Amino acid sequence: MGKQIECKNCTLGYEGVPVTEGINFTVNSGDYLCILGENGSGKSTLIKSLLGLRPVMKGDIDWCEAKHGEIGYLPQQTVVQRDFPASVREIVISGCMAKGKFHPFILKEDKERAAKAMEQLGITDLEKHCYRELSGGQQQRVLLARALCASGKILLLDEPVTGLDPKAQNDLYEMIAKLNKSGMTIIMVSHDIHAAVKYASHVLHIGSKKQLFFGTKEDYVNSKLGQSFINSEEAEHDE
Ligand code: ADP
Repeated sequence: MGKQIECKNCTLGYEGVPVTEGINFTVNSGDYLCILGENGSGKSTLIKSLLGLRPVMKGDIDWCEAKHGEIGYLPQQTVVQRDFPASVREIVISGCMAKGKFHPFILKEDKERAAKAMEQLGITDLEKHCYRELSGGQQQRVLLARALCASGKILLLDEPVTGLDPKAQNDLYEMIAKLNKSGMTIIMVSHDIHAAVKYASHVLHIGSKKQLFFGTKEDYVNSKLGQSFINSEEAEHDE
């Protein structure tokens, strides 16, 4: 249960303007952290900062013992990405390049890694299919397999079920939970409180301009904040 990430009193933002402040949390090996918050609260900004794609304005992000090549990333999807003209296998195998080893030809170990990732996500039968002809749920599984190729230990997922129908959402959540049970650390941005309650071990809730909660899922569910977020989401759902 080693410590993998420590975020210490971070201020994050753009061009010198803070989006959110006082971000403090720790992720241990095997945790499943769900990052909750309203639209625009800074969840994606935090993921980008964790990946080093955005500078930290104040504070420090410590990746502890995690190494390059142990971290996989599934970005938020856009319509353009969904239209990508490549085969499933090509996309999955391109995850191996994200490990920082670029070769002009595909290595045997990369092929094996891609085959294993496709098997884990139940998409082996689709390997020769064109990505843009797949359903949204299948496309997300392909991108998750790609992230798995890049990662041995930690997956960062930004709103992975966006745009999927309820069954495909559920299937993807179950697959992510299975990866977590097999030892993979998961950090997932979501505004889906039900997924957080069902699957996560820890919750980080970001509010307007600051962190509102970090702790175990159980403590979050029993907190005033957790209760009011659950109730407000349920009210929205019932409308
Ligand atoms: P969330 O993921 O919680 O919806 P984001 O992290 O995407 O929120 O955005 C947080 C805030 O940062 C928003 O107000 C957004 O407008 C702003 N923001 C996001 N990306 C940029 C950018 N590239 N430049 C300037 N501001 C940005």
